[in-house]
Amino acid sequence: DADKDVVHVAVLPTPAMGHLIPMAELAKRLVSLHSISVTFITFAENPSIAQKAFLDDLPPTVTSLELPPVSLADLPPDATKLTRTSIATVRSLPALSAIISTLQKSTRLAAFIVDVFTTDALTVSKELGIPSFLFFPSNLLSLSVLLHLPELDSSTTCEYRDLPEPLQLPGCLPVPGTELLQPLQDRSNDAYKWMVHHGKQYRDADGILVNTFRDIEPETAKIMDDEKPPVYLIGPLIQSCSLDVESVNCSSWLDKQPRESVLYVCFGSGGILTCSQLQELACGLEMSGQRFLWVLRSPISDRESSAKYFNTTSIDDPFAFLPEGFLERTKKMGLVVPSWAPQKEVLAHGSTGGFLSHCGWNSTLESLLHGVPMIAWPLFAEQRMNALMLTEGMKVALRPVVATDGIYKREEIARVVMELMEGEQGKRVRELMEGEQGKRVRERVKELQECGTRALMENGESCMVITDLANKWRSTVTDKL
Ligand code: UDP
Repeated sequence: DADKDVVHVAVLPTPAMGHLIPMAELAKRLVSLHSISVTFITFAENPSIAQKAFLDDLPPTVTSLELPPVSLADLPPDATKLTRTSIATVRSLPALSAIISTLQKSTRLAAFIVDVFTTDALTVSKELGIPSFLFFPSNLLSLSVLLHLPELDSSTTCEYRDLPEPLQLPGCLPVPGTELLQPLQDRSNDAYKWMVHHGKQYRDADGILVNTFRDIEPETAKIMDDEKPPVYLIGPLIQSCSLDVESVNCSSWLDKQPRESVLYVCFGSGGILTCSQLQELACGLEMSGQRFLWVLRSPISDRESSAKYFNTTSIDDPFAFLPEGFLERTKKMGLVVPSWAPQKEVLAHGSTGGFLSHCGWNSTLESLLHGVPMIAWPLFAEQRMNALMLTEGMKVALRPVVATDGIYKREEIARVVMELMEGEQGKRVRELMEGEQGKRVRERVKELQECGTRALMENGESCMVITDLANKWRSTVTDKL
């Protein structure tokens, strides 16, 4: 049986686009460059439209196996995705155990890879004696925080935002408590308890694969070289082609715009603004006089949190929430698309010159790899920490100043947009301001683009790390024969 000779890896991702996309890219690389076959194990709970399209679109060499449904009906309706995924994992352990041991018998299963919220599944692979890895779909700063979290949890009692000093971890930028990842902002929430629990279990993995590259965080990478379990830098893995859920032709519009003149505005697969923030953004874009391509989603009422994570489709007509006459007034300058854009193609297009982003890690890497400077507008998860890295560490983004009521005002939005986009288009802007900061950002992002591209090319560090892992996995199962 030829299949039985193929080295095999199983992965259990969190069901969210930001996790599925980089794991699938790792899978594709293992398949195409190392002849390793991969099984994606997925949860049965309602995937979003984008997730479903994505899973259906995996290459035929990546098999996908769905876990039997588990009931989460007893959870409160406001339970976070983190809590839901963590509990779904625990409740799926018997089924997972059956799947993994079947794979172990029928294939040369060399490794099992969990991700940040599915760490309980490590018990299954450990019991079966299968090398177990954690896939971390963000950067080393976030990983450092989570590896230190159990210790932080036991040595402090106050909310982290009340800590007198920023958190200073070895090799990392100091992080003020207010900027720490969102699940750490409320110690009484179940999501916090799960995060501490996962942080402890990260150390049980035989290795941690991180979707980043050394030049992004050189100091942290140096510290992590001595970490246990070993940390492998395997990024930047970014989506190789976009998912065209809504077939709006952004490319043909971009084709008609001048070089690097368009600001792409998108808040990831699930970021949603409040009504008043959406109005300010619209007015700010209009005031800036710059070209824009805006992925628009219906807002939520101002009282709800801005983190309605996992829904990529606007519930109502999002255009109804724009200021009166906005589309008409901006039709020469902007394209507004509902819900979803082919982001990879947009960022790769020569007309795109800036990205106003929620700083999700995948969006960040995609922007860097296409040499597109950013405006950092974090919403949830670890995005405030990413924004900190982008502005103060890498210096590839500008950050608008938020008003005391927590809203970015139109004048401020217009100011940063003009600052970033200053260029051939920006004669008027140059008269208003020097745009020096924007110029530095644009130069720095091109440098990182080169480093990131090199990392995954032949002989690049991340490429060699993946090759070493693949060889190690191959030798583990070969030894067993
Ligand atoms: N994405 C896209 N079109 C959209 C919104 C998002 O293709 O309109 C893709 C984007 O390219 C990225 C992923 O979805 O690969 C979003 O991941 P990220 O980590 O940036 O944010 P999250 O969705 O996890 O908040």
